[in-house]
Amino acid sequence: PDIERHRKTLLEMVASENREIEVNPLRGYASQEFSSLIEKYDVNQTRFLGERSGCTFEDDDNPFILRDYDLCISCNRCVRVCAEREGDYAITIKGRGFDTQVTTEFDGVLKDSSCTFCGQCVQTCPTGALADRKALRAADLPEEIEKTRSICPYCGVGCSVDLISKGDKLVGIQPAMDGPANKGALCVKGQFAFDFVQHRDRLTRPLVRDRDGLLKESDWDTALDRAAEGFRSIVDEHGRHAVYAVASGRTPSEANYVIQKFI
Ligand code: SF4
Ligand code: SF4
Repeated sequence: PDIERHRKTLLEMVASENREIEVNPLRGYASQEFSSLIEKYDVNQTRFLGERSGCTFEDDDNPFILRDYDLCISCNRCVRVCAEREGDYAITIKGRGFDTQVTTEFDGVLKDSSCTFCGQCVQTCPTGALADRKALRAADLPEEIEKTRSICPYCGVGCSVDLISKGDKLVGIQPAMDGPANKGALCVKGQFAFDFVQHRDRLTRPLVRDRDGLLKESDWDTALDRAAEGFRSIVDEHGRHAVYAVASGRTPSEANYVIQKFI
């Protein structure tokens, strides 16, 4: 009971400093942790009302990470994950007491630091002070947030991700904390580069060139038959070494598998 009482007092101190406690879960994976504890310990949020620490960095207009330090409780988790998991050391803590603030080298914007925009600080922040700016674009959509487990399509590592959607719209990505290949980590592409999925310019059907060389919409059987015919005629004419492919660890596993079968 003593420890529980101390916990409650500490929570009351940090809660009294924050602009708000309830935040949109789109802010990040751990963004509901603080509000859950406030509820669990029945915290009086105004007991220590007074001076506040943290100052939201409004000038950092990067497209990915909102640095809303009014909500920061100086837990240091973002600094540790950046240094110990990402190995980037892009952020640190400056000042002490009410002047404590998460900052970058020379107190600048993230794009001028060594930040790779991997998003791990966002996903570990327990208050939503660091928030996923892209996901928050969908804050006003009325549908419930749904999570669907999937695999990042970008390279051969195969990081597990949770696709965040509202209705039919993909609104964000969160790393799967239990993903065997990534254990909660992602790179900037897996974390933030998902707009292509539902982009209006994305091809949804294969294109095949007609006799005049113009691309025409087609079906998969026709397109694959045409590609196979092309490869076959090259092999017939010039031998099997006339066809080659370039594979790499940066290619998705599925593509690498097809290439080793094909070549
Ligand atoms: S996005 Fe990644 S690299 Fe940038 S500050 Fe956060 S943890 Fe560090
Ligand atoms: S993880 Fe969030 S609450 Fe903790 S120090 Fe970083 S910005 Fe502040």
